[in-house]
Amino acid sequence: MAAAERPDPDQYRYGIDGTPTARELMLRLAEIEGGDRTFLAPSGLAAISLTLLAFLTSGGHLLLPESCYGPTRELADGLLADLGVATSLYDPMIARGVAELIQPNTQLIWCESPGSITMEVQDIPAITAAARRRGVPVALDNTYGAGVLFDAFAAGVDISVQALTKYQAGHSDLLMGSVVLRDPAHARTVESARRQLGMSVSPDDCSLVLRGLKTFDLRLRHLGRSALEVATWLSKRPEVTHLLHPAFPDCPGHEFWKRDWRGSASVFSIILGRWTRGQVIRFVEALDLFGIGYSWGGANSLVFSYGELRRPTPELGPLLVRLNIGLEDPADLIADLERAFAAAA
Ligand SMILES: *Cc1c(COP(=O)(O)O)cnc(C)c1O
Repeated sequence: MAAAERPDPDQYRYGIDGTPTARELMLRLAEIEGGDRTFLAPSGLAAISLTLLAFLTSGGHLLLPESCYGPTRELADGLLADLGVATSLYDPMIARGVAELIQPNTQLIWCESPGSITMEVQDIPAITAAARRRGVPVALDNTYGAGVLFDAFAAGVDISVQALTKYQAGHSDLLMGSVVLRDPAHARTVESARRQLGMSVSPDDCSLVLRGLKTFDLRLRHLGRSALEVATWLSKRPEVTHLLHPAFPDCPGHEFWKRDWRGSASVFSIILGRWTRGQVIRFVEALDLFGIGYSWGGANSLVFSYGELRRPTPELGPLLVRLNIGLEDPADLIADLERAFAAAA
């Protein structure tokens, strides 16, 4: 090590730079997404904050979709604002209209497709084309697509960020995030921030994600099929006024999903637009097989309803219910939903 003038970046030196186990996971994740480099972070949110802190500097400007993951917005309004980074929120359906929002100091365009909770599928190729003309990098929260249902790099994205906590880990028992990219200059930017921030993960957690990858394909296919089966049943229920699942025409950006995506995953939302908030809560509480919880991508079905949600409108937000379909028999899940609808009606 002492003899090496510039240490070989692929040689194991020290834990925080990646143990052999972490490096194996980094290589596989880059291969799955078709990227060149992977950075691992201790949660999905840490992968988001690593990316934002790497690309944004004091006096800079960030474009963030209104439909982004709540904590991403909190970071923009919190630490990033304190550091002198300005953020403009944009309509996730803006497509090439994003060009008009790019300012001389814009350093990053953030995308998330579909959007958290309200599931807007973005026209990513239109956004990346507009960004490229202005030389602004585009980062995507690609957690729903899991790096396989949506090809971020083919769509022109520079940086693909994921919560591995969801599908790759797959068993609701660990937290991890990834940042996958291609451009060597971007890699140097992220690597420098990663080292300074000490963003690293333990090899034991990496070995669990590597184990999750052995069944990743089977689980994702099965979850996607079960979610479609449950969503199809829900689409015929009179209580459901909006079905926000990318494979259904109610979902904003459904046409982009049809054009750009290879499939759909396990999480989607319904709006019970004719009900009261009280009925929505009774419905959620009457479900047996669905645990109440925020996460997704694991073996168990989950449900959540956000009382303060102001999207898609302030009236409809509190009547939205997000479902994560797990590995249970979809017929059992449908029976559970049917019973809960009757209990809350
Ligand atoms: C869960 C999630 C995250 C954060 O992942 P954690 O590992 O829980 O920090 C980020 N983005 C999206 C879209 C998510 O659903």
